[in-house]
Amino acid sequence: MGDPKGFLKVQRRSAGYRPVEERINDYSEVEVQLSDEERRLQASRCMDCGVPFCHWACPISNVMPEWQDRLYRNDWVGAWAALQDTNPFPEFTGRVCPALCEASCVLGATDEPVTIRQNELAVIEKAFSLGVVVPRPPKHRNGKKVAVVGAGPAGLSAAWYLNRAGFTVTVYEGDRKVGGYLRYGIPDFKLDKSFIDRRVKIMEAEGVIFKTRTRVGSAQYGFGTLGKDGEFIDPKELESSNDLVLLTIGAREARDLKAPGRENAGIVQALDFLALQNRSLGGENNEGLEPITAWGKRVVVIGGGDTGSDCVGTANRQGAKHVTQIEVLPRPPEHRPDEEPWPLWPKVLKTSSSHLEGGERLWSVNTKAFNGRDGKVDSIHACKVDWVNQDGRWNMSEVSGSDFEIGADLVLLAMGFTHVVQQGVVEDLGLVTDERGNIRTRGSFHTSNPKVWAAGDAKTGASLVVRAIAEGRAAAEAIIRTL
Ligand SMILES: Cc1cc2nc3c(=O)[nH]c(=O)nc-3n(C[C@H](O)[C@H](O)[C@H](O)COP(=O)(O)OP(=O)(O)OC[C@H]3O[C@@H](n4cnc5c(N)ncnc54)[C@H](O)[C@@H]3O)c2cc1C
Ligand code: SF4
Repeated sequence: MGDPKGFLKVQRRSAGYRPVEERINDYSEVEVQLSDEERRLQASRCMDCGVPFCHWACPISNVMPEWQDRLYRNDWVGAWAALQDTNPFPEFTGRVCPALCEASCVLGATDEPVTIRQNELAVIEKAFSLGVVVPRPPKHRNGKKVAVVGAGPAGLSAAWYLNRAGFTVTVYEGDRKVGGYLRYGIPDFKLDKSFIDRRVKIMEAEGVIFKTRTRVGSAQYGFGTLGKDGEFIDPKELESSNDLVLLTIGAREARDLKAPGRENAGIVQALDFLALQNRSLGGENNEGLEPITAWGKRVVVIGGGDTGSDCVGTANRQGAKHVTQIEVLPRPPEHRPDEEPWPLWPKVLKTSSSHLEGGERLWSVNTKAFNGRDGKVDSIHACKVDWVNQDGRWNMSEVSGSDFEIGADLVLLAMGFTHVVQQGVVEDLGLVTDERGNIRTRGSFHTSNPKVWAAGDAKTGASLVVRAIAEGRAAAEAIIRTL
């Protein structure tokens, strides 16, 4: 522990964002970085607790006190080595993780938590700038072949560990580029895609084989939401030519809102809108994909979560006339509620950088219908709702006489993702799904087909980048033990 009294002397300081009037005109990352000296002071606030609850809360069990200490002592490479031991991709989590650890930081029980996520990002970026993050191919190959299907964070993490253990790993990705929702969901202003390319380059140099535009499944089902080009590969062929197939194909069925008037044009899934923006920023040719733009429009985002917030930020950047984000649940409390005491993760009001850029947020609002004009959406018919807790169950009821309309030229449905949409993979490989539609696993990762395993959102349902990375790592560890 570098400075035993650091937490008494130094206040938490978040790096913050670029000014709104500047960042709203571009798609570059909004978060700024502190100087190295200030970052070290922030690290000095870590108390190196006897029981570090931050480990417990972090899905990949990062050992924060160890690397905060090294960071404080100006040993950036040592800090990176300790971080890299548990997290293959700190440059992703350091940018987009909701920092589950910070809610459990012991300092947070009475003061403000350590800036763990931002310290993590500073450590990995410093390591890259010092040139220590270099390819380290395995010394020998063990002759075993694993096919990883899906190059989101879960697939990348599994491939990283399996390759380093000497397996020959081929990652099959249906889309044009690697990254899954890291690339086509999360906006560039939160995660610049060059950081995915930088990591993939290292993985390629270490021997991981990436086959993009290669969708595992049957041509009869088409490409779905993936880029509309490339080729198909038969899942059975993959099964027979590999020692094991790991499916990390994500949970990509978006929830819909089947209210009257849904057929009007201008009501689209959030991911279609976000992916299109990310694709054009990535220089992809969007020919054949339906153009969706918020420019000059009254935009309503249905869904108060992170995807909704990403839509708000993107719509504002595209020049929306007005943005309203509505959520059916009540407004969360600003502070940790009594029923979610430290060190639990509290459901509190989250105001993202996108919310600070403009727009209105409404809670306890239910969408009853979409009104159209000439086949295009023109407004949303909504009402206020009350939530009452009856015997531990929340019941929603309409507030009578509260109906109102919100003008809308573009409605973005951001109500979350439910399960795997994989006709052709799940069926052809004879896999069983659970009641939610995710791939059912026995033990931890085995599916009903012994040669096919599953991990990440495809198994757990829609979750977080850090959880997908943790799943990929755990699946790789289990594969290494088994094979
Ligand atoms: C808009 C949005 C914003 C988000 N923001 C955050 C955030 O800020 N922080 C956070 O922690 N999490 C965030 N998430 C959630 C996070 O991105 C996901 O939980 C995570 O990416 C899941 O990883 P995965 O590897 O399991 O699946 P995915 O990222 O979904 O990757 C699955 C991959 O499999 C490929 N694939 C699917 N089927 C096939 C097939 N048959 N053949 C070949 N390839 C196939 C897909 O093209 C995709 O590349 C966000 C999600 C979205 C949609
Ligand atoms: S990955 Fe997330 S939970 Fe883990 S240390 Fe980093 S910010 Fe915290």
